[in-house]
This record gives sequence, C-alpha cells and structure tokens, in this order.
Amino acid sequence: MKIGVYPGSFDPVTNGHLDIIQRSAKIFDKLIVGVLNNNHKKPMFTIDERVMLLEKLTNDMDNVIVDTFSGLLVDFVESYNANVIIRGFRAVSDFEYEIQLAQTNYNLNDNIETIFLVTRNEYSFLSSSIVKEVARYKGDISNMVPPLIADYLYNKFNEQEV
Ligand code: ADP
Repeated sequence: MKIGVYPGSFDPVTNGHLDIIQRSAKIFDKLIVGVLNNNHKKPMFTIDERVMLLEKLTNDMDNVIVDTFSGLLVDFVESYNANVIIRGFRAVSDFEYEIQLAQTNYNLNDNIETIFLVTRNEYSFLSSSIVKEVARYKGDISNMVPPLIADYLYNKFNEQEV
C-alpha cells in the first residue's frame, strides 16, 4: 500500500491546499494530511479548528485521513509506515525553504523521499496569509477558499472586533 503524507500548517486550508490533497489522493492508496501543531507560528486557527475544517472538506475522499503532529515530521511519517512526503510548489519564492526542508528530512531519514506537486496557475500566489489579510478587510475571498472557510474567517474577524 502506497501511503503519502502531506504536512502543513493549514491556517486555514485554501483552494491551493485542497487541490494538492485531491491530486495526491489519486496518486497514493492512502493520504495522511498532517496538521502541524506548532505554537511558534502563532496560528489564527486552533489545531482543533484546523483539523475539523480539513475533515469536513475531505469528507468525501475515502482514502484521506487528517491527523496532527508536533515533533519531527519524519517521525510522524514513519508512524504511518509511509515513506513519501508531499509538498506543494508555487513560485521560485518557495524554493529555498522547501529545498532546505526536504534535504533536512532526507538527512534525518533517507528512506523518506519528498516529492513536489506544482500548483495550478490560478493558485500560484495563494497562501493562507494572503487569505487572512484580505478577509481582515472584508475583501472577496470566494475564489481562494471554500465557502465554509470564508464564513469561518469572517466570523473570526468579527469576533475580534467586538
Ligand atoms: P507550511 O507552514 O508547512 O508552509 P502551509 O500550510 O502554508 O504550511 O503549506 C503546506 C504546503 O502546501 C507547503 O508545501 C506549501 O508550499 C503548499 N502550498 C501552500 N499554498 C499552496 C498553493 N496555493 N498551491 C500549492 N501548494 C501550496
């Protein structure tokens, strides 16, 4: 059985992430979406919220599992008996960080390979931070995230204003 792990912060999940999830789910028998529980990054969404939203949005994908991790990614990957990490690749700006991460993980465990799926044109400049920035000023994010995420984001910013 081919198992792939797609890790990220998903704060929140965007259409770009969902596209990578859908495409990876076709390549692997089982896809584990690993949500990073890392407080250094000061996420806007709690780990429970990020998992709940991802689970709802992948509900119809039978071979996709959403889980969390907080230690080394390679340990999380090994815990599923997987040996492939999937990352999304947007623009040249992703290159330096992604290559560093992939090489570090390879040095930690050379049985685990990192593969990259190139984003679709329309998601090239889409990131969780851009979505949050636009939503903060009540801009239109309907082509960036599913309606569930858009509603959740606008509500969060409204709560913060009160
Ligand atoms: P991280 O904090 O690990 O960078 P993210 O949640 O921002 O987590 O992203 C997880 C992965 O998804 C990364 O490999 C990132 O490059 C990729 N990704 C993010 N946005 C997009 C997008 N619009 N299209 C394709 N891949 C993306």
